[in-house]
Amino acid sequence: MTHQDISIGTFENSFAGLPDGFFARLDPTPVSEPVLLAFNAELADELGLETAQLSRDELALVFSGNAVPLGAEPLAAAYAGHQFGNFVPQLGDGRAILLGEVRDRAGRLRDIQLKGSGPTPFSRRGDGRSALGPVLREYLISEAMHRLGVPSTRALAAVLSGDRVLREGYKPGGVMTRIASSHIRVGSFQYFAAGDDQASIKRLMDYVIDRHYPGAATAESPALALLQSVIERQAKLIAHWMMIGFVHGVMNTDNMALSGETIDFGPCAFMDAYHPDTVFSSIDQFGRYAYGRQPGIAQWNLARLAEALLPFIDPDEKKKSVELASAAISDFAPIYHEKWLEGMRAKLGLSQKEEDDRALIGELLDGLHRKGTDFTLAFRRLGDVHRDASAHAFLELVEHDAVLVEWLDRYRARAAREGGDAEKRTAMMQRINPIYIPRNHLVEAALSAAIEERDLGPFKALHGVLAHPFEEIAGFEAFALPAEPSERVYQTFCGT
Ligand code: AMP
Ligand code: MG
Repeated sequence: MTHQDISIGTFENSFAGLPDGFFARLDPTPVSEPVLLAFNAELADELGLETAQLSRDELALVFSGNAVPLGAEPLAAAYAGHQFGNFVPQLGDGRAILLGEVRDRAGRLRDIQLKGSGPTPFSRRGDGRSALGPVLREYLISEAMHRLGVPSTRALAAVLSGDRVLREGYKPGGVMTRIASSHIRVGSFQYFAAGDDQASIKRLMDYVIDRHYPGAATAESPALALLQSVIERQAKLIAHWMMIGFVHGVMNTDNMALSGETIDFGPCAFMDAYHPDTVFSSIDQFGRYAYGRQPGIAQWNLARLAEALLPFIDPDEKKKSVELASAAISDFAPIYHEKWLEGMRAKLGLSQKEEDDRALIGELLDGLHRKGTDFTLAFRRLGDVHRDASAHAFLELVEHDAVLVEWLDRYRARAAREGGDAEKRTAMMQRINPIYIPRNHLVEAALSAAIEERDLGPFKALHGVLAHPFEEIAGFEAFALPAEPSERVYQTFCGT
């Protein structure tokens, strides 16, 4: 390891201050020939990093792991997790290294983590590396999520390593730099719970409360308050995913962050045609993590968190702990449904509540499902029906389906009951219903140009469009369209 005395800012290393059993300390393993492919200068600025004065070569050294920046205390975190329902007592950062935390301009502590930075004691049989494809994919999709307004980890840098990794054949390697509110997962708690290490659970709980949910510290039961807060944030997050047609793909408990941010973009994708059973992940044979199952799975994962926290919920009475935790978990469903309904009303440009709203929304979704209509475009085009009496764009999209034509009349009547300005309703809907999402075929095309032709043009173009997902830009119509049958992507691969 060449320590080149490069400074990128002030590290705080609070996680590194936790006891030894929480992680293994180690430096990243250098790569052969790091080349900086993408760097998020805007995010660097938000984080208050001093990267503006560094050359691209210096940035490549730091964000490949070849030079550990001054003040960082690199480590690989320990965690466990349920993977597709099966418990694995030890997973951990097998190819990621946390450099440490920095305090951003808003005063929030943010993790800087390298992914694909070499083997760690948690690598099991893996090589500790990432292929470039998944690095660029995470870069595009996590940034798109952020721009869509969904809490998400962010992408700071993508580096080509100069090494090859063996996946389905040899692929160029890459290192991704990810920024997160923290990397603590449901699986982090499960790790200590599996070893019945109560002291560490307590320590981790206090750390999470202090970092993410300070209000819980003064509650009668901080553990219960923490659980309830995480449930609330996850319910909101999953509702948000559902609003934009996002399918995470691998909702294992080790991929669910306590902070409430979307984390670990593996075989995730956006649904084109509306269908609740949509699955993309090649490793999800039974559709466990299908679009429509995400709320139920989130609740299941949160129940695993509740189990780990159980001894602290009511330290005196086990039965009481179980009752309180069960009640909190049961609350997930109503909280989620409320957030979902709230979100769906907003997507339809409705601000008042009516008894039949859930049915009205359900009928629209049924219609889209039956017709196989593009989910994103359907809502975007619905926005136009308030200012265009012919509703041409929407009706064409649903092929003048008789049931949806009738539905549209009722929807318009529903909107009219609220009164208000038609232009304003359209504008409000267009601020919430994106025109551009990271469509799978566009993402695949951008990655394949970058990897096979060493052409970053399509990646940059797509990234640029996704930076403004709600603004229709003349000349970029193709970015808004679903795939032609020949371009359709049916599966995405972890390609780890
Ligand atoms: P993920 O599917 O990225 O959430 O990873 C699940 C687990 O497998 C985590 O513990 C990862 O660190 C580990 N893992 C995934 N890919 C690799 C790899 N190439 N080398 C070592 N560990 C890996
Ligand atoms: Mg993971």
